[in-house]
Amino acid sequence: MGPETGAEETLVETEVEKDQPLPAGVEAVADGVYLMKGDLKGGMNIYFIRGPEGELVQFDAGTRSMTKKNIKAARALGGLDQVVVSHAHADHRGTAPGLLTPVLCHPDEVGDLRSPASIAGYMDLSELDVTPIAWLYRFLLPWWDGGPVEPAGTVKEGDTIAGFEVIHFPGHAPGLIGLWRESDRVALVSDTVYLVDSARLKPLPEGEASVPHPAWAWDHQKAKESVRKLAELHPVKVLAGHGDPLDMGGEDLHDTLIEASNRF
Ligand SMILES: [Zn+2]
Repeated sequence: MGPETGAEETLVETEVEKDQPLPAGVEAVADGVYLMKGDLKGGMNIYFIRGPEGELVQFDAGTRSMTKKNIKAARALGGLDQVVVSHAHADHRGTAPGLLTPVLCHPDEVGDLRSPASIAGYMDLSELDVTPIAWLYRFLLPWWDGGPVEPAGTVKEGDTIAGFEVIHFPGHAPGLIGLWRESDRVALVSDTVYLVDSARLKPLPEGEASVPHPAWAWDHQKAKESVRKLAELHPVKVLAGHGDPLDMGGEDLHDTLIEASNRF
């Protein structure tokens, strides 16, 4: 056994300077927005946002196995003030029970967030056209899940979180929310769009996006409308729940997103 350094404890009290290097495994993806990837092929995304008052808000909570890394990164960034989960799916609430930080969600996700079920009642995995993948998900979803979470409060469209505006993108889940910052046209959208092929568990070709597979949807038509709603914001950077940022060198992503809304 090596000597006890207490390095982790020290990080909690550290005042984070602006130019301090980021913790391991955390990358800056927009002004004041940091991405931590984890779990399966690094495909699960947790974001940290530094708000205008210096507050640190976490958007989404990945999978249970990311908890240790999540706590370490949050401490290194100076400590978490709030966790906002975009929706209650198992791979977006995974670390939330272990963070001991107030968790917020949209009112239409409260029931599923409190529920011990790792597979939402409206999901129909048999719709996935690759049968072994459908079976795999029946094991993966409970494995990913951190269990039920009691929300400390709710957020709805029009509310402000860490300098971002809350936007409701219902469809994939009833209370799915994203965060939008008009000043630099950055959108954190979670599963409003997929940058991965969920039926084959691999990334989509670079620059491609897709409405999530209907197997996951609460209301697939609404999910398509929500991708169009996102397109109409004319974002230049889309930060999703899975996969790398969608960014075509600052170009308007409107047309890419309209195409994405028609994929299923
Ligand atoms: Zn989801």
